[in-house]
Amino acid sequence: MLTDNYTQVLKNIEAACRRAGRDPEEVTLIAVSKTKPVEMLQEVYNAGARVFGENKVQEIMDKYDQMPSDVKWHMIGHLQRNKVKYIVDRVAMIHSVDSVRLAQAIEQEAARKGVTVPVLVEVNVGEEESKFGLSVEEVLPFVEETSAYPHLRINGLMTIAPYVEDPEDNRAIFRTLKKLSVDIAGKNIDNVSMSVLSMGMTGDYQVAVEEGATMVRVGTGIFGARDYSQRG
Ligand SMILES: *Cc1c(COP(=O)(O)O)cnc(C)c1O
Repeated sequence: MLTDNYTQVLKNIEAACRRAGRDPEEVTLIAVSKTKPVEMLQEVYNAGARVFGENKVQEIMDKYDQMPSDVKWHMIGHLQRNKVKYIVDRVAMIHSVDSVRLAQAIEQEAARKGVTVPVLVEVNVGEEESKFGLSVEEVLPFVEETSAYPHLRINGLMTIAPYVEDPEDNRAIFRTLKKLSVDIAGKNIDNVSMSVLSMGMTGDYQVAVEEGATMVRVGTGIFGARDYSQRG
């Protein structure tokens, strides 16, 4: 069943790419496996998935040790500075950089471990109070300030769009993020690339792909609904 779900999401991405005149190769599907047991991850891995997204440091560490070594782990959740040290050399990308202090912590730990960490700047495009992320206006100054960090490589932008019934309602959000990334790319800041746009989740990833997403983060659409009732 998970195999079918995974394959269906890939097909939907391909269809969205066709509608938008894009090459499906440009879009990476991140299988968001938070709260799900490794047996389920393994099933999706067997279906071909190699990129997984998690939002908790402890969960990345546990699953990192249990899953095959060719899995690429993406940290997509809010990251506390004191936990950076546990994942900085385990993750392929951190999607949730939203403060200079966090960027500094990543720089420090990455330098200590001798790695360079690809990161995305999280943008709260919808300006929701409950969400992390910089406002649209804060992004350029932030990128200018952190671009010189040698062990942190800014690769693009990420947003978590509001929860909506109709995915069309988020199209403007995705357009805004795309425009911001084009604007920043146009500044040609040393060490900064805007090649990644991480946007779109189960409810709206097809619209996000139409609007230029290069990474979509799909959990429920692959693994089914999450059950938080069992967790302390
Ligand atoms: C949980 C989560 C997702 C996946 O959400 P679904 O609606 O289950 O696809 C995507 N991005 C982030 C940052 C998440 O925390």
